[in-house]
Amino acid sequence: METIRSVAWMKQQTRAARTDQRVIGLVPTMGALHAGHMALVERAKKDCSPVYTSIFLNPKQFGPKEDLAKYPRPIEADIEKLTAAKVDGLFLPSAAEIYPPGFSTYVHVEGLSERLEGKTRPGHFRGVSTVVLKLLEIVQPHYAYFGRKDAQQVRIIQQMVRDLNLDTEVVVHPIVREADGLALSSRNTYLESKERQAATVLYRALHSAQAELAKGMRDSLQLQATLHKMIQREPLARLDYAEIVDAETFEPVVRISRASYVLLAVYIGKTRLIDNLWIEPLGYAIKTEL
Ligand code: AMP
Repeated sequence: METIRSVAWMKQQTRAARTDQRVIGLVPTMGALHAGHMALVERAKKDCSPVYTSIFLNPKQFGPKEDLAKYPRPIEADIEKLTAAKVDGLFLPSAAEIYPPGFSTYVHVEGLSERLEGKTRPGHFRGVSTVVLKLLEIVQPHYAYFGRKDAQQVRIIQQMVRDLNLDTEVVVHPIVREADGLALSSRNTYLESKERQAATVLYRALHSAQAELAKGMRDSLQLQATLHKMIQREPLARLDYAEIVDAETFEPVVRISRASYVLLAVYIGKTRLIDNLWIEPLGYAIKTEL
């Protein structure tokens, strides 16, 4: 697997692939790769050749009090995983390569970027949209793969791709979980052993919501009450938000009648974790993905 560090060489590689009529896939990541990332890679390998993964720990999506400095950077292990998965190339640019001196252009997806994650993390989605637009421009993939774990992020990227007429199709992949339900995340490495156990509360709460939905419950306030109760019962957990939102607008819904998300953001000790349940009502029946 080739490691590509410059924008110019990355562009050259995919330009050649496009000339050869090949279907290019891109899996953007911040590294510290786990089975969630690798599921995106495997999905991309099924649809595309060549497949590129990018690892870029984007400073512009971290707030001043966030965990950029301590974010895990196991680059050797990441390269091994991508090599074993037979990824064609790793795009591994430096921060200066992506943001050279004088860089001053940002993308802002209005409305969607201000809510929920955007409220707790001001400027986060501006950083995400800007770097994803740059990656999509540099690689110009036919398909780009994102996890539903970051539901609001992928919705914002879809909106940006639509609004800016980008020639990339966004593919959304289900959340990959540990055996006990905890959604895989590079940030799970921050959890001490008691916290790691407590962290399953996000899955347990969403699982209860899923059971209530299966019984016919459609009332957001009641579902929220269930989520609040379960999070409160976990001494190491502190709720940031538990919201039921429309899957298009990310505005709160009162009754679940369209595609929606149950979204959770919970502090376990100092570590902030997010998770979600996707809901699609189908007449009296309901389809959910946890
Ligand atoms: P990150 O490295 O955290 O920026 O994540 C890179 C991509 O992997 C994003 O599209 C994430 O949504 C996705 N991802 C992270 N964790 C998971 C997971 N547990 N299941 C599925 N996708 C994930």
